[in-house]
Amino acid sequence: MLTSRRIDARKRIALVAHDNKKKDLIDWAEFNKVVLAKHELIATGTTGKLLEEKLDRPVKRLLSGPLGGDQQIGALIAVGEIDVMIFFWDPMEAQPHDSDVKALLRVAIAWNCIVACDRSTADFVLTSPLMQSDYAATLPDYTEYLKRRIENK
Ligand code: PGA
Repeated sequence: MLTSRRIDARKRIALVAHDNKKKDLIDWAEFNKVVLAKHELIATGTTGKLLEEKLDRPVKRLLSGPLGGDQQIGALIAVGEIDVMIFFWDPMEAQPHDSDVKALLRVAIAWNCIVACDRSTADFVLTSPLMQSDYAATLPDYTEYLKRRIENK
């Protein structure tokens, strides 16, 4: 059975960029400053600081990614407090927190979070008409999965 989760017109957008991708994300955010102004922004520590400086607006800053920020974003996704994640991860360089990166991407898919990992996809997401309206996102129902886990104990 599938249930749904209401996403408001004003979205809660998480932004994360690895070091080699920060310039790309900041450029993208600056270019889309007007549209982003309609939404709430949440970011990992360093990405958030750069965004605040460039956009001259408040951004909710979590811990730096390698220090637990990726996990904080994952936890917010799991409890339905992030609607969209713009995550420019670096495909060319291993990260000290690769396990957190993998976990974040996994939990985002597990909860059907809207995810963009490159600039083109981020452009398509941000220009979707659905960004300006309420939306009922399909939510996987893990009741049976949880029941099986308890039965197997
Ligand atoms: P940062 O974290 O914004 O604190 O650099 C990003 C990351 O590497 O996950």
